[in-house]
Amino acid sequence: MKCDELLAALNAYIDGEIDPQVCAELSRHLEGCNPCRVVIDTLRKTITLYKGEVPYELPPEVHARLHECLKKKWQEQFGQSVS
Ligand SMILES: [Zn+2]
Repeated sequence: MKCDELLAALNAYIDGEIDPQVCAELSRHLEGCNPCRVVIDTLRKTITLYKGEVPYELPPEVHARLHECLKKKWQEQFGQSVS
């Protein structure tokens, strides 16, 4: 799995609908990729915050904002744009 593939998989991750196999690949990638770990950490914290209030449902606009934020982070980390 490459970094941009991981970013694509994050959508499912946020929704909690991630395929177990994808999840395993994701974990494997994270073991060897520090920038991606940072992004996932941020994501986990955001999800945990939301979990405190509502049962694991991100409002669509928050969802969108989170994606924008992650994309920006990715660009900062890798110096290139991903879509
Ligand atoms: Zn990576």
